[in-house]
Amino acid sequence: QPRPYGPPPGPVRAPRGTELSTLGWQQEAALRMLQNNLDPEVAEHPDKLVVYGGTGKAARDWRSFDAMVRTLRTLKQDETMLVQSGRPVGVMQTHEWAPRVLIANSNLVGDWANWEEFRRLEQLGLTMYGQMTAGSWIYIGTQGILQGTYETFAAVAAKKFGGTLAGTITLTAGLGGMGGAQPLAVTMNDGVALCIDCDPRAIERRIEHRYLDVKADDLDHALRLATEARDARRPLSIGVLGNAADLVPQLLAMGAPIDIVTDQTSAHDPLAYLPVGVDFDDMASYAAKDPAGFTTRARESMARHVEAMVGFQDAGAEVFDYGNSIRGEAQLAGYDRAFAFPGFVPAYIRPLFCEGKGPFRWAALSGDPADIAKTDKAILDLFPEAESIQNASLHRWIKMAGERVHFQGLPARICWLGYGERDKAGERFNDMVASGELAAPLAIGRDHLDCGSVASPYRETEAMLDGSDAIADWPLLNAMVNVASGASWVSLHHGGGVGMGRSIHAGQVTVADGTKLGGEKIRRVLTNDPGMGVIRHVDAGYDIAESVADERGVRVPMREG
Ligand code: NAD
Repeated sequence: QPRPYGPPPGPVRAPRGTELSTLGWQQEAALRMLQNNLDPEVAEHPDKLVVYGGTGKAARDWRSFDAMVRTLRTLKQDETMLVQSGRPVGVMQTHEWAPRVLIANSNLVGDWANWEEFRRLEQLGLTMYGQMTAGSWIYIGTQGILQGTYETFAAVAAKKFGGTLAGTITLTAGLGGMGGAQPLAVTMNDGVALCIDCDPRAIERRIEHRYLDVKADDLDHALRLATEARDARRPLSIGVLGNAADLVPQLLAMGAPIDIVTDQTSAHDPLAYLPVGVDFDDMASYAAKDPAGFTTRARESMARHVEAMVGFQDAGAEVFDYGNSIRGEAQLAGYDRAFAFPGFVPAYIRPLFCEGKGPFRWAALSGDPADIAKTDKAILDLFPEAESIQNASLHRWIKMAGERVHFQGLPARICWLGYGERDKAGERFNDMVASGELAAPLAIGRDHLDCGSVASPYRETEAMLDGSDAIADWPLLNAMVNVASGASWVSLHHGGGVGMGRSIHAGQVTVADGTKLGGEKIRRVLTNDPGMGVIRHVDAGYDIAESVADERGVRVPMREG
């Protein structure tokens, strides 16, 4: 029996400033980012060590957390702490180029990799769910989902609307924890968003947080507001109360001039999707009382909802699934055209992955927001707006994020950069630390949802050109190459994003500490890490990846000789 061991008396918060409580900045960064993940401003349930994404944790239990803090404080420059699912299990002598921390979270052998077995082992205190950036200590709060959603809509704009959503109307539903980023992501791309939710509080909360602009009285009012703003090419987001399975078909029948349709209701869980004809207030009790009956009705409603989405597609709109499994649920209800529209990764994100692009992020260990403002400016200088549509969208994001994003915990920034860009940014950041322009070092990392670091057949690797969706050698190679290149900490996880048995993914964080050695590590890691994205997509046969490899000198042996 583990002895009772509770949370610390006060909230966990990373120290700020330049005073070290460890033997070097690599260790200090790991310590501060671990603590930052559990800062109440950052974590959803810090008392339970849960950072985000259901039960994604930063440490297995408080005893393990304390042991990691204690160990990091005495860890030498040639030592490495090993973490097994949130518990420190060893310290080994390595060398200065080696990571200071190596992390493996939630990994199970194939035949055992399901929630039931995982929960059994978790109950025994043997493992924890690490999600993606929870157990690898580089979660930065809701800025991540906002940026990812912004990037998706920017990619839609680039693919179909000449690089801007100005003059277009996007119809979507779901204003929850993640889906609530949609209205702001659309207006940041200068478009109009019409967002349906059946929960009045979800609409109000988004307005309070300034993610949503206005609430319409009814559907006609919403449509009037939307078309006026569209005609003036003015960004506007409008919330409307109702059931998407009613309102989306109604809008189709009205011939509403919708350009883009997607959805982020919680369709992945049929007990969380409101069936047609059920009052929102009765939803929870009905789902609890008759889960089977509720599921059948929710799926039938999803089929109506998806049928209307397909109707919009037939009428010429750009329609995509936003990773909530609504197509699969509609198909289960017997709707045979559910997969007529694509998932968002194959439709828009994969071309970015082919260029090694993905969610690059960094946190200011000083705690000083001025450091992030300076790095924002450095990014704008490094990647001039006029050079490409993608740079223009990067500029729009960085400027809007500077105005609209409230930092949670240590100030941080995220933006998507590709092969040949991340290393450039990282080296500039390291120079800024060296010259004293920044008050302290930066921790530079990324999400595991990246171009060459994840195998996830329902999401990031859905519908690969060569059918290699479930091949998981890539994230393993990615972790190994980051270890070999000098990352500060490297992690290898199972089940993030889509659950047990469905994904394997890796992460890295590298510290810009202003030293020459730090700069050399950064150049290698931030070249090789996105390089994995390029070679993974060359291997799968993507032309864009082949041109990127040729133009930017990424070596692929099977294309040589
Ligand atoms: P959430 O549960 O916080 O919010 C869901 C919202 O949908 C709620 O506000 C609810 O009131 C509303 N809703 C439910 N049924 C409805 C109906 N019939 N009509 C109108 N509104 C309805 O969930 P979340 O965290 O916002 O995530 C939403 C979905 O998006 C999930 O399925 C999640 O898995 C998926 N997701 C995908 C990605 C990705 O791959 N890009 C990222 C994040 C979330």
